[in-house]
Amino acid sequence: MPRKQKRPVVEPIRRKCVGCGKVKLVTYREWYIPPVEKETFVSGADSRKSRLDIPGATVRNYCSSECAVT
Ligand SMILES: [Zn+2]
Repeated sequence: MPRKQKRPVVEPIRRKCVGCGKVKLVTYREWYIPPVEKETFVSGADSRKSRLDIPGATVRNYCSSECAVT
């Protein structure tokens, strides 16, 4: 019986684009993780922890990579 392979796909969400300020479907993201927290994240055994759980981590949402460039 063939198994369906499920890829980890980024959920299509609508957020305010940092580039143009419009609420659009996010296709591009930029993560900012504090160096100290990043170290904790890497060395920590709990690798299942999402980046969203890291205090101080922020994400910028863009509707396209073009908005991210500006
Ligand atoms: Zn945009």
